[in-house]
Amino acid sequence: MLSILRIALDTPAAAVIGDGLYDYRWAGPAEVGQLVLAPFGSRMLVGLVAEITDAATIEPQRLRDATATVAGLAPLSSEWLTFVRFAARYYHRSLGEVALPSLPALLRRPDRYTLSPPSADGTRVAHLPSIDRAIKRGERETAADQETTPIRGVADPLSLNAMQSHALAVVLGARTAATLPLPILLYGVTGSGKTEVYLRAIGETIAAGLQALVLVPEINLTPQLEETFRQRLPHARVASLHSGHAEGRRLLQWWLAHEGKVDVLLGTRLAVMASLPRLGLIVVDEEHDASYKQQEGLRYSARDLAIVRAHQGRERTGREGEGRERRGHEGQSIPVVLASATPSMETWVRAERGRYRKVVLSERASSDASLPTIRLVPLLRAKTQHGLTDAVRDAIADRVARREPVLVFHNRRGYAPVLACGACGWLSDCPRCSVHAVFHQADRRLHCHHCGWQQRVPRACPSCGNTDLAAIGRGTQRVEESLRSLFPSARIARIDRDSTRRKGAAAGLLDAVHLGDLDILVGTQMLAKGHDFRNVTLVCVLDADSALYSHDFRASERLFSNLMQVAGRAGRGGARSGEAEVLIQTRAPEHPLFGALVEHDFTRFAASLLDERRRAGLPPFSHQAVLRAEAKTAEDALAFLNAARAQGVCIGEQLGSTTKVTLYDPVPMTIARVAGVERAQLLVESSVRPALHAFLDAWLAALHAMRARTRWHVEIDPLDI
Ligand code: ADP
Ligand code: ZN
Ligand code: ZN
Repeated sequence: MLSILRIALDTPAAAVIGDGLYDYRWAGPAEVGQLVLAPFGSRMLVGLVAEITDAATIEPQRLRDATATVAGLAPLSSEWLTFVRFAARYYHRSLGEVALPSLPALLRRPDRYTLSPPSADGTRVAHLPSIDRAIKRGERETAADQETTPIRGVADPLSLNAMQSHALAVVLGARTAATLPLPILLYGVTGSGKTEVYLRAIGETIAAGLQALVLVPEINLTPQLEETFRQRLPHARVASLHSGHAEGRRLLQWWLAHEGKVDVLLGTRLAVMASLPRLGLIVVDEEHDASYKQQEGLRYSARDLAIVRAHQGRERTGREGEGRERRGHEGQSIPVVLASATPSMETWVRAERGRYRKVVLSERASSDASLPTIRLVPLLRAKTQHGLTDAVRDAIADRVARREPVLVFHNRRGYAPVLACGACGWLSDCPRCSVHAVFHQADRRLHCHHCGWQQRVPRACPSCGNTDLAAIGRGTQRVEESLRSLFPSARIARIDRDSTRRKGAAAGLLDAVHLGDLDILVGTQMLAKGHDFRNVTLVCVLDADSALYSHDFRASERLFSNLMQVAGRAGRGGARSGEAEVLIQTRAPEHPLFGALVEHDFTRFAASLLDERRRAGLPPFSHQAVLRAEAKTAEDALAFLNAARAQGVCIGEQLGSTTKVTLYDPVPMTIARVAGVERAQLLVESSVRPALHAFLDAWLAALHAMRARTRWHVEIDPLDI
């Protein structure tokens, strides 16, 4: 029988054709959710069957035949398709642009498939040998792992304290709720045992025959957490999904989840799109973390999508009720837990308004742990040596003498942010970007942190020949060097993106702290995230001030949460935990942000921040999208945005909605040029979300129709503007 497959393909052109699906003729059997190979122009593409009909939406002479359906892979479920369709609508992309990039790369490569000879009805089928190979290899590796890894024993579950028990009851209650459960904000101070709560909830989820999805911000955290899961849930099948895996491994992990062969899927933001047929719980750990926002391609928020996904799981059961096969979900909801000590303002405001259910863990869980004392060390008029005040230096010396590891937080990598010539004013600028190239001492090179440009450090000033170039400012490499000269006998290491390129390097450094093999660890926010150090009693922050005066309205929110996180590494247990201290050097000790920080008072900080945002009409009290243009010259980029703005103003008038959508003037981006490309942007804002999206629908259609030669994209809910 001849049918029409309506196929989602990952092509930008899909944005301009109706619903973004392409029609193909097909004679054999096919199912919605199946992958197919189809010709597109002169290329072959892998697509996804989104609909099957018997009437094409294009003229018969333009209709082409699909090449083959992919065998040996169960179709993606209708729940998954519904979820991805929502994401496509919300981010104003075609289904194909969202669905296909979410699949492992090996599945999307037409050249990886082999076609079997045509059958009697003329169709053919495509096989993916790499699936079989990946699976075989996965099985071998798992077997080898089991032989080589020593049995670490099963960690005993801790007995939950009253607050934890209550939190767990709320999560479990959401599973069986008769009405749509609210997303749960698990708001707990650092070390309050949030992990413990969701581990229990995962255990119960697995016991009910369902799958749990756990999102974490950092790849570096997955091995640690995987280990904890394996210890605590010895019978659970745990898989992980993140960009650090090689392609074959990623395919295997994805496939295991898709086949329902894993109980817990642990991953970074991309895992939110995984196919999980028996999904029964979603956890978003450190929900405030900026890494949940994808910064290129489809610029989605994994945190927001997690909430949508959980919500939809419930809606279907509710509406369709009995008789519908839910593969074990019958009558179940999907609870979603957002865990954080410093929730994002978006989440916090929803919790305050009762749209999320807030559950609080207000104390550290471990009996020998307590929150550290936070002290501000004024920098103005203080004598410093290598950027360290006497107070900080003495405190470090004291801990080193007592063999208690010290963490030094400095959120800037490299040796010095810029090299300068004192004679002529030359600065080490990146030739391709409007930023300074950073001086790295380790390889004696200048590195651009934006485009990757590198060069050997010049021996003399390239513009006047002066041989005396000065390193201005301080990065982690320089801090490390200073600490070595101040504390020559201490064992010192550095953790940042440069020192942890080798696989396992980050874990090694963190283990060294746990084991007491290091006296001082200096690093970027990499040392702040989630590590449960039991022996750290001092955390120092050398300079936190630059974020206080940033143009970015989110800078202070980020600074507060970074400082809370890093402070949270001290006093987590051990004999002297009660004397744990955090010292923060600052030129603005009277700043209200620090006032709240010293008191560990997130609530007060959030209230004042939200008050400011409300008065300024900023998110979360308004909703934003940004149109960005990239061109050879700034004029071209701005000209496109000005034309787009004019279109937008017309459309706004035509729509004539009562809620205003504001289009701001186009401006160059803060870092205007990156890798030789000039970038500008136009901010669009509305106090009502549906009004913004209705406007974007009409406006983006008009922009696509312009077929401008300028490259552009739109980002919904941008974090950096
Ligand atoms: P969070 O995720 O909130 O930062 P963790 O879950 O890492 O906190 O817990 C911090 C420490 O407290 C861990 O060492 C953990 O083993 C311990 N802990 C958690 N719950 C309990 C409990 N109920 N009793 C004793 N110790 C606990
Ligand atoms: Zn010079
Ligand atoms: Zn550059």
